[in-house]
Amino acid sequence: MSVEDTTRASGATLDEITALAKRRGFIFQSSEIYGGLAGLYDYGPLGALLKRNIKEAWWRDMVTARDDVVAFDSAVLMHPAVWKASGHVDAFVDRLVDCRVCKHRFRADHLEKPDVCPDCGSKNSFTEPRNFNLMLQTSLGPMEDSASRAYLRPETAQGIFVNFKNIYQTARKRPPFGVAQFGKAFRNEITPGNLTYRLREFEQAELEFFVPDDGADLKWFDHWVQARRKWYADYGVKPDRLRFYELSAEERPHYAKAGVDVEYLFPWGWGELESIAHRGTYDLDAHMRLSGKDLRFFDEGSKTHYTPLLIESSAGMDRTTLTMLVDAYEQEKSVDPNGKQTERVVLRFHPKIAPLQVAVFSLARNKPQLVARARSIEAALHEELRTQYDEGNIGQLYRRQDEIGTPFCVTVDYETLEDQSVTVRHRDSMRQDRVALDSLKEFLDERL
Ligand code: ATP
Repeated sequence: MSVEDTTRASGATLDEITALAKRRGFIFQSSEIYGGLAGLYDYGPLGALLKRNIKEAWWRDMVTARDDVVAFDSAVLMHPAVWKASGHVDAFVDRLVDCRVCKHRFRADHLEKPDVCPDCGSKNSFTEPRNFNLMLQTSLGPMEDSASRAYLRPETAQGIFVNFKNIYQTARKRPPFGVAQFGKAFRNEITPGNLTYRLREFEQAELEFFVPDDGADLKWFDHWVQARRKWYADYGVKPDRLRFYELSAEERPHYAKAGVDVEYLFPWGWGELESIAHRGTYDLDAHMRLSGKDLRFFDEGSKTHYTPLLIESSAGMDRTTLTMLVDAYEQEKSVDPNGKQTERVVLRFHPKIAPLQVAVFSLARNKPQLVARARSIEAALHEELRTQYDEGNIGQLYRRQDEIGTPFCVTVDYETLEDQSVTVRHRDSMRQDRVALDSLKEFLDERL
């Protein structure tokens, strides 16, 4: 039976997302009680689940479901020579300017008007641009000198490149094959902001896919572009808010043969979620040059050495999590069963990534029989599903679960004790079905 009538509106503001994220325990400012730190956030109980589900979806589709991708997990701190070879020590810089009047600092390439400070409005108040390296430094061991300097990695990929030989030999893989890993990365961003979009500590999911130079490399590039397109579609990202932007030769690094940026339409405009790039032999060559070690692949069949070409997919898990939150957010006007106008906020997460999948309610708090029955139903579902028990005012309970994106609510009422059935309420349509208890699990499984 359908009980409520709805009209949809979408497109949340960043303030609305930020407020919901805090109110419902998705995202908190890091070290909030001390005033917070720019560009650093913590995930609350629901946000941590959401991010974990997204990462699991990535891992399942990019690694577990395939037989040509192996797992990897490298250290955050690496030999400083790694960052010399990769080019990060010399070239991982943003151009920085300071306003002499208000002392605020900006990325030169982000300024809309190059001679007017966007914060205080002063004209011609900027200092000359200077290079600012985005790598965060620390030192290893008891002495703080240049010999002990180490960098917190600004990307996870280099750990895979320097281990390329270890990996292919021990995993007994030959190109085409890939190596995937999750990991924290750190960048001393000049202007962090937009909630978790631009962070100073963030998490990447990277796939480095090595292919032979046999003429099929651009097909592999295309394969990964399509695979990633399917991935976002499979988890329900709205197609009109997602674009795959093809980089021109001028926009790509000189060594890259092809590149696509995956972008999402955030409340403030398009922003990059992932970069997919054909990087040629650039990365392995750079490490071979500086280390003097041979990282080429040895082909047992032809007894020849060659350097494989690289197709990379590098996605930010915090930006993907923010995307799922923004994309799922909808504010709806609805008419309740009594004809009253109401409004609800609902997160229409795909069931696979929703933090919780089923909430089980007892209609009354003070009826031990109802509470016991609801708790036992929830405990049984909990073995395989992400569930939560709650009790009290059903209208309020529904609103809360809508706001955290739980696809189904199951209510135990007085009739349940007599007819062994429950009310299942659908998040998206607000439809309510009466379902026999012995088929409840099947009913939910089919829809999750
Ligand atoms: P941007 O142009 O936004 O600074 P980028 O082109 O430098 O990003 P890449 O080096 O290609 O980013 O990193 C791959 C992915 O890592 C990005 O698509 C993004 O999802 C994520 N990422 C990069 N920098 C940050 C950051 N400061 N905060 C959160 N995620 C980030």
